[in-house]
Amino acid sequence: MDLTFSPEQEALRSRLRAWLAENVARSGLKGPRPRSVDLDSETIARYKRWQQRLYEAGYVALSWPKEYGGQALDPVSQAIVNEEMLCAQAPALIGAMGLEMLGPTLITWGSEAQKRRYLPKILTAEEIWCQGYSEPEAGSDLAALKTRAELKGDCFVVNGQKVWTSGAQHADMMFCLVRTDPAAPKHHGISYLLIDMRSPGIRVRPLVQMTGERGFNEVFFEDVQVPAENLVGRLNEGWQVANATLVHERNMLGAVTQSQQLFGRLLALARSMRRNAAPLSRDPVFRQRLAALEIRVEAMKHHMYRLLTDRQKGRHSGLPGMINKLVGTELNYDLATAALEALGDAALAARDEPEALDHGFWPYEWMFSLGMIIGGGTTHIQKNIIAERGLGMPRIR
Ligand SMILES: Cc1cc2nc3c(=O)[nH]c(=O)nc-3n(C[C@H](O)[C@H](O)[C@H](O)COP(=O)(O)OP(=O)(O)OC[C@H]3O[C@@H](n4cnc5c(N)ncnc54)[C@H](O)[C@@H]3O)c2cc1C
Repeated sequence: MDLTFSPEQEALRSRLRAWLAENVARSGLKGPRPRSVDLDSETIARYKRWQQRLYEAGYVALSWPKEYGGQALDPVSQAIVNEEMLCAQAPALIGAMGLEMLGPTLITWGSEAQKRRYLPKILTAEEIWCQGYSEPEAGSDLAALKTRAELKGDCFVVNGQKVWTSGAQHADMMFCLVRTDPAAPKHHGISYLLIDMRSPGIRVRPLVQMTGERGFNEVFFEDVQVPAENLVGRLNEGWQVANATLVHERNMLGAVTQSQQLFGRLLALARSMRRNAAPLSRDPVFRQRLAALEIRVEAMKHHMYRLLTDRQKGRHSGLPGMINKLVGTELNYDLATAALEALGDAALAARDEPEALDHGFWPYEWMFSLGMIIGGGTTHIQKNIIAERGLGMPRIR
């Protein structure tokens, strides 16, 4: 493992640092939060403008191929961008699902026409995407999905229901799994469709999460017509495409930058609070806890470097690639739990109450990070995948 950066990578870092110093404050968006998808239209427009400006300055999707708007740079350059955005407390990218999940899937599985049609608008956040995978009876057992799509002439006709669809209320498009052959065994007969959320017959009903936000939704389809050209990969063979997206999703959810950011905030909190007439950060018991958490954050950082090396050398990362989501989301939850325990009773104050510290950031984060342990495949499912596909252990029936 080589941890030194090339002169070109160092130059990219300094250019970006200067750009962020000038532009983050101007964005009108404070800090990397909200990660929430419950945003009003004015805030959405601001986030879209922010992503567009970042793209125009050359700092979005650096490793995508040039012909689709990327720069064909190595994955380390993208990691540098992520690190610098974190240090500058830059706003998050509203088009993350398109950038991190659908875009890389289309680059591998999409037709030439699909790549040219969709990728540029993902980069600039002109089109925001949501993920239509889960259904009421198909979460962990995703292949049990029932939403039906029948090919009639040059259109699929879609009927059924999705649930927990994050951001569907303001998404322009959905990448969606549908059953196209009900007679086939359940992992076959599934197809991957791109659906315009403004199509007649789509109804979106927001669901309130325990954070109090309307982050995700139920989405109902009634005779929704989807052009046949919106099929990604082959008919009835969408399971492979779906899994490609899931791998990208798990890397996104387990990103170490989130843990680094949370740890920084936890440390600041511990320094600002007092226990036994001294800063909490000096309390011998809490100090041990901080040290144990920091060790886990550092371990994740070096794990990420190992994955980057694999990617740069074109190696499939196998087992290490499966670990990110499991370890990263559990770590974020433990960081938030430590903060809640430090806050004691103050953690119970609602966001708008005067006792709430930092506008209730930590209670919110604790609930949010619990959701991330479930979303994208629960901890139990990640453990099953690691055991079966990573360690070659027998399947549990
Ligand atoms: C914040 C959040 C955002 C989400 N956003 C989206 C989205 O945008 N799009 C989308 O499609 N979905 C989304 N989801 C849904 C998410 O993918 C599912 O919640 C998840 O896959 C679990 O499915 P389920 O809720 O049906 O739980 P279930 O599958 O019913 O699981 C219930 C419990 O049983 C356990 N379990 C189930 N099967 C096994 C097994 N074989 N072995 C061991 N334990 C098992 C699970 O670990 C869990 O603890 C989101 C979820 C959350 C929390």
